[in-house]
Amino acid sequence: MKLYRLTASEAGPTKLFVGGLHGKEGLYTAPILEQLAKDVVYAGKAIIVPCLIEHGKYVDVLSEEYYRSRAGIELLQLIENYKPHFYFELHAYGKHSYSGLTDPERELRIGVPPFVDCGTGILLGSIAPILRRKFSERSFCVTIEVPNWKSEDENVRAEVLRVLRLALSKAKREEVMEVLRRWYPAQMQKAEELFRQYYRNKLKAF
Ligand SMILES: [Zn+2]
Repeated sequence: MKLYRLTASEAGPTKLFVGGLHGKEGLYTAPILEQLAKDVVYAGKAIIVPCLIEHGKYVDVLSEEYYRSRAGIELLQLIENYKPHFYFELHAYGKHSYSGLTDPERELRIGVPPFVDCGTGILLGSIAPILRRKFSERSFCVTIEVPNWKSEDENVRAEVLRVLRLALSKAKREEVMEVLRRWYPAQMQKAEELFRQYYRNKLKAF
C-alpha cells in the first residue's frame, strides 16, 4: 500500500485521504489521489493513500464484514494510527449504481441516506455509520464517489481535485464547508439536511 505524508510547517489538523477501498475502484481513484499528493498548498498534516487495496474483493463498506476484511482492517489501523480530524474517502462507481446511490428512498431501503450529485455525476455524502463511530463528534468525514466511466474526463477529474484540494488546504472544517456551500448551494443544503436527519442533530455535517 502506497502512502504519502505531507506535513506543513505550521501545525494544523491531521487529514486522511483514502481511495480504492474495494474491488477495482483504485484504478480510478489512484490517479486522482496521486495528483493530490503532489500539491504544495496544504494545512496541517496529510496522509494520502491512493489505493487501499488493488483488485480486492468487493465488500460493501456499509457492512460489518468489510471491517473484518484485509482492506477494512488496514483502514481501521490507519485511522487508529493517525487519528485524523479530516477523513475523505474516495470511491468510484459504475453507471448502473447511480440510481441506487442517489435514491431518495435509500434510507428506507438500506438504512443510510442517499448521496447528492454535485452536478457532473460526482457524488458527495457521509461515510459508513459503522466507521463514523470511530471518529469524534468534531471530526469531518466525507465520502466522494467518482463516476468511473468519466474518471478520465478532464472536467470531472478537475472537479474532484478541486474539492480534495479545498480540504487539503484549509485548517478548519467550517472553512471547507463554507466554500462547498458556495460552490454547490442546493446540493450542500440537501446533503446537510440528510445528514442532520440521519444523525438526529447529534452530529454536525459531516
Ligand atoms: Zn467504493
